[in-house]
Amino acid sequence: MAKSKKKSSPPLQFKGIWDYAPAPESTDPVQLRDHYDLFIGGQFVPASSGKSFPSINPATEKTLATVSEANSKDVGRAVRAARKAYEGVWSKTKPAERGKYLFRIARLIQERSRELAILESMDGGKPIRESRDIDLPLVAAHFFHYAGWADKLDYAFPGKTTAPVGVAGQVIPWNFPLLMAAWKLAPALATGNTVVLKPAETTSLSALKLAEIIQDADLPPGVINIVTGAGETGASLVRHPGIDKIAFTGSTEVGKNIRKALAGTNKRFTLELGGKAANVVFEDAPIDQAVEGIINGIFFNQGHVCCAGSRLLLQESIADLLLRKLKDRMETLIVGDPLDKNTDIGAINSKAQLETIRKYLRIGKREGATVHQTSCSLPRKGYWCRPTMFLDVAQSHQVAKEEIFGPVLSVLTFRTVDEAIQMANNVPYGLSGGVWTDKGSKIFRVSNELRAGVVWANTFNKFDPTAPFGGYKESGMGREGGLHGLMPYVKLQSTGRGKG
Ligand code: NDP
Repeated sequence: MAKSKKKSSPPLQFKGIWDYAPAPESTDPVQLRDHYDLFIGGQFVPASSGKSFPSINPATEKTLATVSEANSKDVGRAVRAARKAYEGVWSKTKPAERGKYLFRIARLIQERSRELAILESMDGGKPIRESRDIDLPLVAAHFFHYAGWADKLDYAFPGKTTAPVGVAGQVIPWNFPLLMAAWKLAPALATGNTVVLKPAETTSLSALKLAEIIQDADLPPGVINIVTGAGETGASLVRHPGIDKIAFTGSTEVGKNIRKALAGTNKRFTLELGGKAANVVFEDAPIDQAVEGIINGIFFNQGHVCCAGSRLLLQESIADLLLRKLKDRMETLIVGDPLDKNTDIGAINSKAQLETIRKYLRIGKREGATVHQTSCSLPRKGYWCRPTMFLDVAQSHQVAKEEIFGPVLSVLTFRTVDEAIQMANNVPYGLSGGVWTDKGSKIFRVSNELRAGVVWANTFNKFDPTAPFGGYKESGMGREGGLHGLMPYVKLQSTGRGKG
């Protein structure tokens, strides 16, 4: 792209005008034990090694609780419990009964949503406004949605009978801990499978609270088992011969390793991996709405979003105007205490992730990109990153191709529709994309030609349990959500009905 004008007008000074009184959410609803064990066969049980690890609040660096670390022996115990529950109870439970359990879990989540939202912000660093208004409502919605499917599988797959696959091993990341658990658990249970779930090491606590809800819902023991630990625990689960299906969300690197580990086995798998989505803004777009969409696309959840709009493709004719407005809007973003209701950008999930982001900030500068960061002050303790934008980015730059997974936007410009499509597709990923234009025909053309699982038009980062989600290329394979999300968990057999 052409070098941005160095003499652009200085960002507006919002200090003083935009100072809000603190509005912290109380942590009282969250009662944490000092230590959490593994959840196997309906009970909390200690890890066989006796080892544990701390779960740290990334905004304060304080330990919230310690969590048991499952080794391969514990994973084996959990898989056996899941198999027993599958063969003895769950695969024989009537579909409408399975649905009732899921409805019950959904309602209990709603009842405890405030507590769970606060915990999610404490353990993961995300702003309370997002965990309260986005994560938790979507968690409950996923359970409700799949509860509804449980006794309607004949309608989902007309002319076919369905059978569950068996025991599912599910490995989830730290960016949407409870939501990713819901995405994985709800369709698996609705279709009659049992599960061993491995949450991410830095965000296990909400899954363990969910275990309490599972107990309260009287779900038969062993239908859901939760093994906490780091990557090695996940790898043990993937390798375990008693698993019939793996569902993984996380990095492309680990996804590739999982695929290698599964080669030659009969295990089914779905992989939901990284992304480097293009958010494409044309000159006829509603500029102010587009600015909001760009902000939401990259700064939602600190940019820890696989489908984040991390590459902004701007039509050259509006680049100066839009970037000026974008800089002004970025300057208003409030970074700080995740539990404060004013906060727009919370804490980076872990020290390791902050180091990854900083590494990319160094790479971007070295590659010749111009860095723009807002001037906000950051808390002294905790892991933080200012809203950041790379200008003067070329397609060959690492910061234009690789997933940074932080509040860092790379900006490139284009002149024609064809060029925008070519640039948008010029990355190894293909998870999501955005298109901003006043013209419906352009929306159809661009969204059809973007090689991405989800394309949003004049909006970004909208999620719904009825909509399938998943990627192409190195963003993975398989779909989660909606009717498509049932498919990985069922074996289909033709009934012969409906044939001519
Ligand atoms: P990982 O892919 O390592 O983590 C995802 C999950 O997989 C976690 O539960 C992790 O456990 C587990 N895991 C790690 N190694 C293995 C393994 N060999 N076999 C099975 N499971 C494993 O992501 P990271 O946390 O390391 O993040 C690194 C980068 O990945 C980020 O910077 C980001 O770019 C990307 N990422 C993408 C996500 C997405 O949704 N697309 C989500 C998270 C990360 P544990 O965390 O306990 O080590």
